[in-house]
Amino acid sequence: MKINNCRICGADALEVILDYKEMALSDSFLDSIDEIENEKKFPMNLCFCRECNHLQIDEILDPGDLFSDYIYATGFSDAVIKYAKEFHDSIRKTHHENENQHAPKVLEVASNDGTVLSIFKDNGSEVLGIDPAENIVEIANNRGINSIAGFFNLESAESILNNHGTFDIVIGRNVMAHVADLHGFAEGISITLSQDGFAVIEVPHLQTMFEELQYDQVFHEHIGYHSLDSFCKLYSRFGMEVFDVERIWIHGGSIRVYLQHKDGPRKISNRVQQLIDEERELGLYEISSWNEFANRAIAHKDSISKKIIELKQQGKKIAVYGASGKGQCLLQFCQIDNSVVDYVVDKSELKHGKITPGTHIPIFPTEHIHEDLPDVILLCAWNFADEIIEQQALYLEKGGKFLHPLPEPHYVP
Ligand SMILES: [Zn+2]
Repeated sequence: MKINNCRICGADALEVILDYKEMALSDSFLDSIDEIENEKKFPMNLCFCRECNHLQIDEILDPGDLFSDYIYATGFSDAVIKYAKEFHDSIRKTHHENENQHAPKVLEVASNDGTVLSIFKDNGSEVLGIDPAENIVEIANNRGINSIAGFFNLESAESILNNHGTFDIVIGRNVMAHVADLHGFAEGISITLSQDGFAVIEVPHLQTMFEELQYDQVFHEHIGYHSLDSFCKLYSRFGMEVFDVERIWIHGGSIRVYLQHKDGPRKISNRVQQLIDEERELGLYEISSWNEFANRAIAHKDSISKKIIELKQQGKKIAVYGASGKGQCLLQFCQIDNSVVDYVVDKSELKHGKITPGTHIPIFPTEHIHEDLPDVILLCAWNFADEIIEQQALYLEKGGKFLHPLPEPHYVP
């Protein structure tokens, strides 16, 4: 279903920036080629709100279709585990700065398999997670992380408040971009947060998306693309304020935003206004910048598909590393399919043996690279490029090449 009104300000002011045409859902991996016939595809446009400048897609799908059996689990990547430890240490520091001696009570929204909460629990915290993917919540509960299966919205937040009270820290990592009902989400955070507690929300940053031409961040499961400005506009509606922000490397360049209730105990850092000024100077609040972004994306599509076809014509064997949502967007948008790519490798066991949505490429474990030695591997999981290059040193030694797609196709390292 198409929406016309902005998810943050409500204005009927969405302007189409880039038409992605019909795309299969990024997480709808097929079990066999027999399923291709009945594969569903949906339109998708990247839009700019002329009223509040928030970037978003104009298509809304039933969340039950999107996340009930989500197959991404946090613990699979070494880089993610390293990140989780760093996250814990940094958040605990902010908590203790406010003269808190006790271990904080922590709620995590979209807690996935409980990787992050387990670190808080090991350090004395009472923890609760909520995540829509039932299969992943089961994994979390089995490892002793108290987790609820469900979407986080005003209704579930009220139920959490009634059953568990408020929390010192509310965490939402890489979830807000997936949320259609942003008002319900923000109000849910506001009511579950204790009076002097703080929330930590991480989202891929609009600035990196713009600068690095990450148009592959746009897929049906990834609805909104946030600047710090759009953050402030959303949360101020629910009595909250941003008091600090930092840039982090995860998911290709994200921001970690700290919020408290308005006039809360923490001083507002200069970093908040500095980043808003930087976003403005870069042109992120202007539609002309985004029209230019769309033109760059279309030119990129032409250059990368040309490159892949050339390699294929030279008789090279091409594989893809990473069956993530971004990868499915890039492959579908650039029409790089099973006619040019032999296979995709991915670390997640849950994806092995499946076929990529829309492009119908079989997925194998990463070990397959060594048995087969493809000439070129397109690095769709570019956000983990350093880690992958380090792990695949042997493949590179044997003459293999990694092609990084963005912002222009180039070989790495
Ligand atoms: Zn708006």
